[in-house]
Amino acid sequence: MDNDKIKRYTVTAALPYTNGPVHIGHLAGVYLPADIYVRYLRSTKKDVRFICGSDENGVPITLKAKKEGITPQQVVDKYHKIIGDSFQEFGISFDIYHRTSSLTHHQTAEDFFENLYKKGVFTEEITEQYYDEKAQSFLADRYITGTCPRCGNENAYGDQCESCGSTLNATDLINPKSTLSGEAPIRKETKNWFLPLDKYEAQLRDYIESHKEWRPNVYGQCQSWLNAGLQARAMTRDLDWGVKVPVADADGKVLYVWFDAPIGYISATKELYNYAKLGVWNPMAEEFYINPQHAIKGRWEDYWKDESTKLVHFIGKDNIVFHCIIFPAMLMAHGDYVLADNVPANEFLNLEGQKISTSKNWAVWLNEYLVDFPEKQDILRYVLTATAPETKDNDFTWKDFQNRNNNELVAILGNFVNRVVVLTHKYYEGKVPARGELSDFDQQVITELQEAPAKISQSIENYRFREALTEVMNVARLGNKYLAETEPWKLIKTDPERVKTILNIGLQIATNLQILIEPFLPFTSEKLIKMLNAGAYTWEDAGQADLLPTGHQIFEASLLFTKIEDAEIQAQIDKLHASKTANESRTEVAEFKPNIEFENFSTIDIRVATIVAAEKVEKTKKLLKLTLNTGLDTRTVVSGIAEHYTPEEIIGKQVSLVVNLAPRAIKGIESQGMILMAEDAAGKLSFVAPSNPVESGSTIR
Ligand SMILES: [Zn+2]
Repeated sequence: MDNDKIKRYTVTAALPYTNGPVHIGHLAGVYLPADIYVRYLRSTKKDVRFICGSDENGVPITLKAKKEGITPQQVVDKYHKIIGDSFQEFGISFDIYHRTSSLTHHQTAEDFFENLYKKGVFTEEITEQYYDEKAQSFLADRYITGTCPRCGNENAYGDQCESCGSTLNATDLINPKSTLSGEAPIRKETKNWFLPLDKYEAQLRDYIESHKEWRPNVYGQCQSWLNAGLQARAMTRDLDWGVKVPVADADGKVLYVWFDAPIGYISATKELYNYAKLGVWNPMAEEFYINPQHAIKGRWEDYWKDESTKLVHFIGKDNIVFHCIIFPAMLMAHGDYVLADNVPANEFLNLEGQKISTSKNWAVWLNEYLVDFPEKQDILRYVLTATAPETKDNDFTWKDFQNRNNNELVAILGNFVNRVVVLTHKYYEGKVPARGELSDFDQQVITELQEAPAKISQSIENYRFREALTEVMNVARLGNKYLAETEPWKLIKTDPERVKTILNIGLQIATNLQILIEPFLPFTSEKLIKMLNAGAYTWEDAGQADLLPTGHQIFEASLLFTKIEDAEIQAQIDKLHASKTANESRTEVAEFKPNIEFENFSTIDIRVATIVAAEKVEKTKKLLKLTLNTGLDTRTVVSGIAEHYTPEEIIGKQVSLVVNLAPRAIKGIESQGMILMAEDAAGKLSFVAPSNPVESGSTIR
């Protein structure tokens, strides 16, 4: 879109699905780039609304509710708050973080569907779906389990076998069972409404091909969808959780979650307008994290239906088809709306070389990060932007996190600001000194400073946020280089007049940094504003070398960043591995083992034994060598409990010992038996012992 045509911006970030908290992959993929873009637009005084909210409909929410024994509403209430709070804590500056369970959303989505329905856009199709007669409910694919036709796994789901990874249709399963009642489902006819995407194929192709500037991954994926040929897709589902289908004979049906979720952007915008109408007493402010200054006082339609509005969707790569094919087709069918000008989708962020996995707990959760690194949001914002997966999948490692903090934020940005502020206090009582005649070098530094904002703007406006951040850091590098080469701490003895000029220019660079880092590091920018006692300058002030007037009083230096030690990083790596291990052992014990006969059980001889001596096994972390009195003999057992008990604290303790287990050598020591331990979900071990002292050798049965 031509810049001079744009009157306002509507920027959306993908609605997070409300069945779990958000992790660094979400932040890096969608919310940080979107927030940088919006903060930049605000700094350039553009009319912009930043829209997001919780996606609270769909089958996985109902499954999660069933698993936790609570209602779907309780699931979404819980995670809406956790996710909304995390975003707020990381400075993701939405104007509204709405919910698709809200009344406004239900009305908006129903109206949208009805509009298309009345225009005759949908086709009605009757298909056979699995139905649970006992629960009187049609079954979504995820509610059906059965035997995988490919690998024989007996617990395959109706859409996928997690054992062999095959994508399945529910009707492929052998011996299908409903997870609601455990009964075999029957097939029953049902009517649903389909959006004939094929009819919009030509229009969609024109749209996509008019945006060759889109990222290659986005443009390429759209092309391959179009080339494969589009088919009609069902826009309704037989389910009782979601937005009701607003037509006759649609009882027990809701809108397909991917039909209503993108409409969520529209309903959130409307809510910003409703908020302005109702005023600040409205309880919505808290629930929807509304920024009261950005309530919409004019027409909400301007942000969606006016040709001079630039609409941008920030998403992850798994959502490209929904935002570039299906939602535009819906908007085309409606006819009143503008289409997205760009859809900057990121690739995926991996963690320590592995795919981030919620189910395996291989993730860094935002709510947990702040417990371990309080008030260090900007470090994570910085690292995730510097390694953003803009063009290919990228890897987050804790070591890189530490290096970037210590070598870039501390050594470059923090160090420069600290030196210039400390020296100003040391020599001039914190007052900006007057500038004298400029040297060629001074002039060269000022010219570089003047050129920086335009470079950064260009990168941001083209959605290249990593590059933009590098340019910002180059300004801090420029400041460091300037001080290192002019050495004011030496000159103060020989040429104090010259030092005034140097520190004046240094302070002007620091003030520029306050503006330029704001979209990326808003918390640090805030600290810098306070330290420099400067006004809240905006982007158009950036590049000027006279922002702070002579004699202006600045405050004492405080460190913007501090070093992160090896031990803190190791603790994070250990935590990651520990939570993954705990998670794996949890899945192992989630089900009981099959029944056995009493005869089989009674072959195991378990006795009470008393620990008489204990020592660590050398060169191991986990093993203790124990000497046990079994009543009949004294024997040696090697046990993996050294991380849970010290040798000193367990001498004299009674334990349960399997005495007839065949001996085996562990680290060269013959271990004669096995001590029984209770293990909780976190992997913590405890002895299983008689509740009162008994004679050693007593039987356990
Ligand atoms: Zn399989």
